[in-house]
This record gives sequence, C-alpha cells and structure tokens, in this order.
Amino acid sequence: MKNLSDISIQYIKGVGPNRRKLFNRLGIESVEDLLYFFPRRYEDRRDLTPIAQLKLGEWQTISGTVVTSEGKRSWYTKKHVFEVLLDDKSGRLTCIWFNQPYLVNYFKLGGRVVCYGKVDMYKNSLQMISPEYEVVEEEEESLAMGRIVSVYPLTRGITQRYLRKTIKACLDHYQDQMVDELPVPLRNKHRLVNIKRSIHNIHFPESFEEQDEALRRLSFEEFYFFQMSIILRRLSITQKPGYSHDISDGLTLKFISAFPFKLTSAQNRVIREIRGDMSRPRPMLRLLQGDVGSGKTLVAFFGCVAAFENGFQSAIMAPTEILARQHYEKVEGMLKNGSFKDMRTVLLVSGLKKKEKEKIYQQIRLGEFDLIVGTHALINEEVVFKNLSFVVIDEQHKFGVRQRALLSEKGSNPDILIMTATPIPRTLCITLFGDLDVSIIDELPPGRGKVKTMLFSDAQSQEVYRLVREKVNGGDQAYIIYPIIEESATLDLKAAQQMYEDFKKTVFKGLRLGLVHGQMKRQEAQKIMVQFKNNQIDILVATTILEVGVDVPEANVMVIEHAERFGLSQLHQLRGRIGRGFKDGLCLLVAEPSTAEGTERLKAILSTHDGFKIAQHDLMIRGPGRYFGRHQHGLNELKVANPATQLDVLELARKEAMALLHDDPQLMEEGHLRIKQIIKKRYPTYLEMVAAG
Ligand code: ADP
Ligand code: MG
Repeated sequence: MKNLSDISIQYIKGVGPNRRKLFNRLGIESVEDLLYFFPRRYEDRRDLTPIAQLKLGEWQTISGTVVTSEGKRSWYTKKHVFEVLLDDKSGRLTCIWFNQPYLVNYFKLGGRVVCYGKVDMYKNSLQMISPEYEVVEEEEESLAMGRIVSVYPLTRGITQRYLRKTIKACLDHYQDQMVDELPVPLRNKHRLVNIKRSIHNIHFPESFEEQDEALRRLSFEEFYFFQMSIILRRLSITQKPGYSHDISDGLTLKFISAFPFKLTSAQNRVIREIRGDMSRPRPMLRLLQGDVGSGKTLVAFFGCVAAFENGFQSAIMAPTEILARQHYEKVEGMLKNGSFKDMRTVLLVSGLKKKEKEKIYQQIRLGEFDLIVGTHALINEEVVFKNLSFVVIDEQHKFGVRQRALLSEKGSNPDILIMTATPIPRTLCITLFGDLDVSIIDELPPGRGKVKTMLFSDAQSQEVYRLVREKVNGGDQAYIIYPIIEESATLDLKAAQQMYEDFKKTVFKGLRLGLVHGQMKRQEAQKIMVQFKNNQIDILVATTILEVGVDVPEANVMVIEHAERFGLSQLHQLRGRIGRGFKDGLCLLVAEPSTAEGTERLKAILSTHDGFKIAQHDLMIRGPGRYFGRHQHGLNELKVANPATQLDVLELARKEAMALLHDDPQLMEEGHLRIKQIIKKRYPTYLEMVAAG
C-alpha cells in the first residue's frame, strides 16, 4: 500500500491538476498534507444567535438568506463598497465589505450565508463590517451547519466549504490507511487517543471535548518527535571537543574601555557569560536575546576580539547587506581605530566583483583576515577559513536552520553565538533549541528617547499627516509603512506607490520623499536607504521590506498604515526603528481592525514596549508557526502544537523523549528504528545537522 504522503492531492475527487496548484500554495501536496492541514479556529454553529438577539460590540456568528446585495463606489472615500442585507426571520443585518468588488458575484439572492464578525450599529440598524463569510449550499449543510464547524486558512480560489468537502472525502477514503506512529504503551500511559480518531475529530468534532482530546494527542506527537530531534542535535554539538580560548581580565578590560561610553550592566553580564563559554574546551551554543538597539552587536564583538587575541578567525553573518555593512563600519570605527588596530577585518557580500571576491577568499584561506563580516555570501562553498573559532549569527530567524549550520561547519566546532531581536519566550526557546544557553540584554543604553504610540482610524488620516509634517518641519525624519500581503501583493504595492505619488503632490508637497519596496532591485533600494540615512530624504514611504536593525537615529516618526494587517511582533520590530537617538519618537498607527485578533494586537502594541511581553502575547494569539513565519524554522513543522498554551503537554512529551534517548542515545535498538525514520522524514534539517555536525 502506498504511503499517504506519496499520494498526490490531485487524485482526490474534485481536485485535479488546476486545483492542485491552489493547494500547493497552501503547502499541501499530498493526501497526508491535507489531512494534517488543521483548522485555524472553530465556529459553534450548533445553536446560532438569532439576528434579533445579537449583542452590540460582541463577536458573533449568524446565518441568514440574502435579501438584497449591492456594490458601488463611495463618492466620499472612493472605495468600493459592497453591501448585503441578510434575513433570518428573527431580524435583518447589513454586512459591508470594502474594496472587494468580486464579492458581487459571490452572494446570490436567496442564498444562505454565514457571517462571523463584530456587531455594530449604524443609523439604528445592525451591521457587521468586513465579517468573515461563507455561502452555504444545501447539499453541504451537514458539514457547515448545525454543528461545530472548522474554519481553515485559505488562499484565493479555495473556499471554506470546498476545503471542508475535500478533507471529508480524503478522510472517508483514506482513514484506514493512516498509521499510528505513537507506541501503544505511550498512548495508554498518557491516555492519548489513536491517530484516526484524532485526525477525524480535529476536522469534524462533535463536541469541544472531542476536539480537545484530538488536539492533545496530535500536539503530544509533534512535541515528542520534534523534541527528540532537538535533543539529538544539541548533544551532537555540545559533546564535541571545541576551542578553548584564553581570555584574561586584561583583555576584557581593554575591550570594555575601547568604547566612548559605559557598557550597561546587562552587557557586562553577557560578556562574562560568553567569556565563560569560550574559555571552556566545548563548543558554545548560546542564544543572545535583546530588543533592537539594546547593544547586542557590541557584545558579539567581544567574542570576535577574544578569538583574534587567541590567533583565530571569527565571522559575523547578517541577513542583509545594509546590516552587514553597518556592523563592519562599527568594527572599523570602534575597535580598529583604538585598542584593536591590528585586527584585520573585511566585508564580504555578494555584490562584489568576481575578482575582488576571489582575492578575499584567498586571503581568508591564508588567514590574512581575522574578522569576516558578511551576508549569506559567507556560506558560499568557496569560502574556506584558516581557523574559524567564533561565529555570530545575527537576526537568527532570518536564516534557515541549514544556513546556520553551514556557517558553523566552516570551522571545526567553533563557538556559536546566535542573536535575535525577536524575543523568544522561555517555553518556545526550549521547544526550538532544547536547553540552549540563553543570555538576555534586558536594559537599553541610557539616554534613549521614548516612543509614544497612538491609534487612528482611516478617517483621521489628515490629522496623522499633519503630525508628520509638524515633526518633519522640526527636523525629524519619518517612515510611512505599508503592508504587503502575499495574496494581493500587486494591489498592495500599487497602494504604496500611489500614496507616494499623492503625497508628493498634496500633503507633503515641498518635502523630500523616497519610496522603497520589495520589488525594487536590491541596489536601488539600498541607494534610497543610504540617502535616507544621510538625511537626504525627509519621508520614506516603504513596504515591509524595511531592513531589520538599520540605524537611522534622526528618524523619529513612523506611520504604519493598515496596522491591523501586521503581526504583533512585526509591529514591535517596526516601531523599534524609531526612538534610536536621544529625541522622543512618535509611532502613529492607522487601522481599521476587522477581527477580534486584530483588535487584540493593536491593544497590546499600544499598552507596552516590552518585547518579551509582546512576544508572549503574540505567541498566544498566533501559535509558534505563524509567530516566526512559515519558512524560516523547524517550527513550521509544528502544525497544531503550541508551546505557549500547551506547556503541560510539551513537558510530558519532552520527558518521554529524554527518557528514550537516555536509554538509547543513538536510536539503534530494533524497536526504535522507526522513530529514527520519522525524525529523519519530518525534521530533515535537524537530523542533517546531527549527521554533519
Ligand atoms: P542591537 O544589535 O542590539 O540592535 P547595537 O549593538 O547595534 O544594538 O547598538 C545600538 C546602538 O547603541 C549602537 O549605535 C551602539 O553603538 C550603541 N550602544 C551600544 N551599547 C551602548 C551603551 N552601553 N551605551 C551607549 N550606547 C551604546
Ligand atoms: Mg543588531
């Protein structure tokens, strides 16, 4: 019998080659992928609220038939407005969507519709603005009505009901071929239901108890195998022989006094921790967390200097050219001009000419450079180090696991420092890295400005622009950020471009404006960023490609348009760009949240500046997969499990994984071979590291 992961989704009833492509966009290739494509939330449609009993301000679900529908362009806001009136016999409700003209064809008069949204009142009648919607056809009622209904993430061309129907078909046809990978004794011990039942109930639960039970079992399984891969990887790194650096008090002092300012006590503490690790003859594997601007990079330089004084090479890898250049310039400016004149540094980025690169490669190989700062260009196979003993990976979530591994493999078990400005709550840290050593800089250098955050509605835009102009007239620079969402990327980009043109002619006439976006050539975007940095541009209109970690101390104002469309951590990161100088910053959010989650996020960002609180919150709202973005991490492997909300399950699974590895560290026993296979299949990069590292 074929594995479910080998059966293409194309062969499921109602799919075919064209729809297969749509499924692929959701990351679904095989039958197994589809069965493991889990709902984003559930809607209790067993007992819908009659329209007459809706409560103002609440998030509720209703069902009604379409009485009227109309699409028109508002003469006032120029937006397309689509309006339907729904009737459920108890009462009537108006639903409104903006800028989605295609909806006109979707709602048919007399058709049955389910809407989920926030209940509002306008001129004495009830309405929902931009609710989630679903047209329900009679023959599908059994899946969509009178029960708990799962709601999935979608892509254009795939609707809730189509997805539900296809999953149902898949389940009916293949459920008996599902293999339970959790050993029976383990399942019995922790009262975990079998795989068929859990997959069925995660999609089509009869009760929330059933859904809970399914979630617990599936999460346990995910945690169990994932933890196993992580523990294996951690053992493989830290049990090897490594460099032992000789780091004297004198050297530490010399480093600390190389700067024109006093290090914060958090920086001093972390330097001590790194010094301890680097002195030991085992490889260091340490995660350094700290908000943007907390002074992580400086701490990383300490390790580079320590390597240099011991006669070894070090490397810093940053996710973008601008960042790499910034680090490089800092090293040149701070260290090389002072106490560490002899340290030979070089910047290695892909933009260099071939000849230049080859020369640099050769010098690196011969040990003629001590510190190599660069981008992904560092992991090019032609880069060979003479003796790399210390590696820094900046903004780690921008790199894949494999890329990080490739850099450390360029040395022989070098000490590794991973830095992140996206704080990782402890629970997630364990999930991701096992018991990795963690350092935290929880204190900003003194004298930084404060950032004030304010929320505005679309209708208040003029006030926002007035504030921006006022600030710019006072000598500040400003960012205006637009979101780019993949589904409507071209539309979004147009919006940003259009506003930029508009701004130049209207509200910001006479000011110097710049535009950067993701579809520009790198070099072009780079040029504009540099102009902004050199204060040749007053207002930078940008899409979210805005480089992580760029330092423009004069930029103190930021407008974030459609703020409801950004993730919480993303908002925090963006806001971190301002208030980097001594002056106070101003962050203006323009938003029309249309979901409860969106409202939550805005509330959180308004209420705190604490990156850790925000991270914890974000993790709660979104779950870890979405927290980090799908492609970056081993975490995208966690489909249901959420360490933030299922700490108890995580700990249970982790304990079991450790117990097993304690008895059989290499997974060599007959009964454990299958486990090894699963890990290999599900977490290839992790195991690759074990094999390679
Ligand atoms: P991060 O890498 O955490 O974003 P950086 O190391 O780039 O932060 O530091 C941000 C800015 O603050 C840099 O310009 C740096 O020179 C400066 N800085 C770092 N530590 C201190 C300190 N202790 N006192 C004053 N300024 C500092
Ligand atoms: Mg940084």
